Amino acid sequence: MPIDRGTTSVSSWLVSAGRDGRPGSPLNVPPIPASNFVLGDQRAYARDDGTPGWESLETLVGGLEGGMAVAFASGMAAIAAVFEQLPVGSLVALPDDCYQGVAGLADAGVRLGRWRVERVPVDDTARWVALCGQADLVWLESPSNPLLAVADLDVICAAPRQPGATLAVDNTFATPLNQQPLALGADVSVQSVTKFIGGHSDLLGGIVTVRDAARLAALRHTRELTGATPGTLEAFLAVRGARTLALRLERAQASAAVLAGRLAGHPHVTAVRYPGLTSHPTHDAARRQLAGFGSIISFDVRGEASDADRVCTAVRLVQHATSLGAVESTIERRAGIPGQEHLPPTLLRLSVGIEDVEDLWSDLDAALRAV
Ligand code: PLP
Repeated sequence: MPIDRGTTSVSSWLVSAGRDGRPGSPLNVPPIPASNFVLGDQRAYARDDGTPGWESLETLVGGLEGGMAVAFASGMAAIAAVFEQLPVGSLVALPDDCYQGVAGLADAGVRLGRWRVERVPVDDTARWVALCGQADLVWLESPSNPLLAVADLDVICAAPRQPGATLAVDNTFATPLNQQPLALGADVSVQSVTKFIGGHSDLLGGIVTVRDAARLAALRHTRELTGATPGTLEAFLAVRGARTLALRLERAQASAAVLAGRLAGHPHVTAVRYPGLTSHPTHDAARRQLAGFGSIISFDVRGEASDADRVCTAVRLVQHATSLGAVESTIERRAGIPGQEHLPPTLLRLSVGIEDVEDLWSDLDAALRAV
C-alpha cells in the first residue's frame, strides 16, 4: 500500500516512497530499460510519457517538496527547462551569488536577446520584493553556492508578483528536508538530484517541483521537446540514494556544525561562512527558515591562493573533488574555476560527508597546518 505523506514522518516516507505496492511487484521499482511500450491506452514512448522509474523518483521528491515533480537529466537540464518557459524580452532577477552554471545560462540568454537579467545581492530583501512586482522570473538560490547566503524566502515568496510571473528557488543546498519553498509561496523548487538526493557521487539528475498542473504540463512538454530525460539507471540510483537522505543529512550537518566552529578558531583560517554560526551575515534568516543549517561550509585559508590549493592536495580523507552533498567529504578552491574568479582567492568550499567527525577534523587540521 502506498503510504500517505501527510501522516508520515519524512524519514519513514523516504524509505518507502515511490514504490509500486501491488502484490507481487518488486519492493522497489527496478531499472526498466525501455524506450517504448506495447501500444494501448497507457504510455507509448518514454520521452513523451515517462517510465515507471522516473515516476518513482518524481513521487518521492514531489512528496518531499510538497508538490508535483518532473525529473530531468541533470540539475542544469531542470533549471534550463524553467528558463525555457520565459517569453522573449523577459526580466530575470538572479542572485549575485549562485551556482555558476545558472549564471552562465542567464548570460547566454542575454547574449541571444532572450531575456534581461538583474543581479541582486542575496540579502537585499527590499530589492527582491520590488523585483517580484516587475520580473517575469525571480530566481533564488538559498543557501547560495558557494557563499551560503540565506535569502529572506518567507518575505520574498509572499511578495505580490505580476500575473504570469514565476518565483523559483534552487533548493539544492537546503534539501527539501531543511526547507520547503513551495510551502513558503514559491511556484517552483529545483533540486540537483546529483547532490544530496542521490548522495553517492554516482549519477547526474535534476528535478523541478511545482504546485499547479499547468506548470507541470509545460515542464513535461519541455522535457519531451528537448529530450532532457533522466537516465534509467540514474533514476533508480537516485531513489535508492534518497532512501537514506534523512540519515545522511542528519549526520553530515551535525558534523558540519562541529567543524565550522573549530575552523572558526583555527590559526590558519581567516573567515568561516556557515549559516549556523552566529557570525554568519544571514544567520537570522537561516535560523528562522531552515530546519537544519546544512553540511556545506566555505572558509578562507590564511595566505595566498597557492596555500589554499596546498590544503586541497594535503587532505587524505577529504577528497579533492568538485560537487557536494555526497557520503564522502569533498573540498575545492572555487575561485580556481573558470567564471568564479570574483570569489575570494583562498576560499575553500567543503562539503561534509558522513565520515567520523574526529577523523575529518584530524585530516583538515593536519592539512591546514601543513601550508
Ligand atoms: N544548483 C546548484 C546549487 C548546484 O550546486 C549545481 C551543481 O553544482 C546545480 C544546480 C547543477 O546541477 P547538475 O550538476 O546536476 O547539473
